[in-house]
Amino acid sequence: MKPFIIPIFLPQWGCPQQCVYCRQETITGERRSRLETKELARVVEQGLASKRRKKNQPVEIAFYGGNFTGLPLETQQRLLDWGSAYIGRGRITALRVSTRPDAVTDDILARLKRSGVETVELGFQALDDRVLERSLRGHRVRDNLQALKLVKEQGLTAGVQLMPGLPGDRPERFLPSLSLLQRRAPDFVRLYPALVFKQTRLAAWYLEGAYRPLGLAEALQVCARAVTLLESSGIRVLRLGLQATPGPDFLGNLIAGPFHPAFGDLVRGLLFREKIAAAAGGLKIRPDAGLEIRAGDRETGYLTGNGGLNLERLKVELGCPTLTLIRVPHLKPGEWEIMQVP
Ligand code: SF4
Repeated sequence: MKPFIIPIFLPQWGCPQQCVYCRQETITGERRSRLETKELARVVEQGLASKRRKKNQPVEIAFYGGNFTGLPLETQQRLLDWGSAYIGRGRITALRVSTRPDAVTDDILARLKRSGVETVELGFQALDDRVLERSLRGHRVRDNLQALKLVKEQGLTAGVQLMPGLPGDRPERFLPSLSLLQRRAPDFVRLYPALVFKQTRLAAWYLEGAYRPLGLAEALQVCARAVTLLESSGIRVLRLGLQATPGPDFLGNLIAGPFHPAFGDLVRGLLFREKIAAAAGGLKIRPDAGLEIRAGDRETGYLTGNGGLNLERLKVELGCPTLTLIRVPHLKPGEWEIMQVP
């Protein structure tokens, strides 16, 4: 079962510089600049009481939004000790952290592991040195790959975050670069197409015409192709697109870029539509016949969500007189069928 994650955001804590696209305060809605254990405990208790948490679901505290292993050792250890006390009391299962690839070593990872960390999410952002350089990341592809190797050697779960559409990136560069990951098999990937937020260098470049973000359709296509490549190698894609934080900060500061509140569903819907179109192609449909799709909750949701846009597009693409969608609750995710009806 996927863990229920309680995120503790440490906005840009431990970062050596500000990457061109980054404004964690806006993305996470947190302005925290020092440790207030009382407040952190409140966040955890709120998470533990959440109705979204399923029965017997493992719970993890995640330190996100900064460069965890770039923090002074004392701060890291204080946070780890604080988090692992919840493990000791049986209230959570494990800890996880997000960090920069150039801030991990064997020793650091071993210490994280001893303190109850089971998952390390590495901010790769790109697998192309030109893109990393233009995004002022301050590390190279070889640092990404070395960090992934070290995380896996420690027996930790390895996650990788990637941002298609950064300066200098293009789909025809991004997609082939994924072969570097396919061979090294992280446990999961999160794909966050680059967005332009106020008060970032990317915003200045965008406003002076020196940077163009991906359009929404373009980002959906790139992510759909990336999901196909990664999942065909057994790498799970856990997240597609940034989630807007509640309140006005996120959308109020977003200037441009392929944001959609249901970005992941749109990508999955696009992939499902392609599968249906391929299956329908093999049916040799009579010109007067209709089509019926039977699917479980997840797949019907991809077609009916977002105002039924995917279903409408599918009707046009298939060009058949009627297309009926039948929800069959007992069908599991990935199980669906399509048939001709008289
Ligand atoms: S390292 Fe991560 S958190 Fe820090 S500035 Fe860059 S993108 Fe933001």
